[in-house]
Amino acid sequence: MRKKIVAGNWKMNLSKSEALALYQSVDAQNPANEVELIVFPSAIYLDSLKKLDGKLKIGVQNFHPAESGAFTGENSITQIKDLGAEYVLIGHSERRMYFNEDGAFLKEKVDAALQHDVKIIFCCGEPLSIREMNAQDYFVEQQLIESLFHLSNYAMERIIIAYEPIWAIGTGKTASSDQAEAMHAAIRGFIEKQYGKNTAEKISILYGGSCNASNASELFACENVDGGLIGGAALKANDFLQIAKSF
Ligand code: PEP
Repeated sequence: MRKKIVAGNWKMNLSKSEALALYQSVDAQNPANEVELIVFPSAIYLDSLKKLDGKLKIGVQNFHPAESGAFTGENSITQIKDLGAEYVLIGHSERRMYFNEDGAFLKEKVDAALQHDVKIIFCCGEPLSIREMNAQDYFVEQQLIESLFHLSNYAMERIIIAYEPIWAIGTGKTASSDQAEAMHAAIRGFIEKQYGKNTAEKISILYGGSCNASNASELFACENVDGGLIGGAALKANDFLQIAKSF
């Protein structure tokens, strides 16, 4: 049975007191079902959030793959792990787009996180121009090949994948459940081709892109959708919790 996961990407939002209040509110009402709930706040709040000692898991949205050194403004995986981050997001389209993180750099991040035993949500997904050419399967497979398919079966089984069509992120335009299921099944197929069925069946694949309390149940009902990576709707405790109860 694959793990069900709902993760909230808070992006560059919330003051410290708002972040603490949101964490506490979600944690207090955490349905304690079989769904793993994770939040990704700004890294600068990590220490304060960890001190709350809640059940809600915490990750960071970014880190640098080098152990240490002259990378002004960056945080290493050792530093963020030291502050209690259990998860990292890698490959989010906003980092690919605004910070020019390419497949080879993301591969370095994947290796660094695995080496330090920090769990990874690896994001992939196509822009609208690629979807319009119906080339999304090829595009997403290349993203997986570039940054993940050098891993052993053992390492691959520790990865969580989030399929996030870029045209659906923050746009209010969600992929239909048919579109989501088709891509999730394709991703599982790519993994199966590379690693075999046993490994492919173990990997949770989350959907992200304008997922909210109204559309989550339809998306999560798809056979290959194992949860969601939520942006905007994760900033309201009740919406996020409603999504977590949508399986
Ligand atoms: C995201 O940025 O990962 C995301 C899914 O955002 P939104 O839910 O706001 O589309």
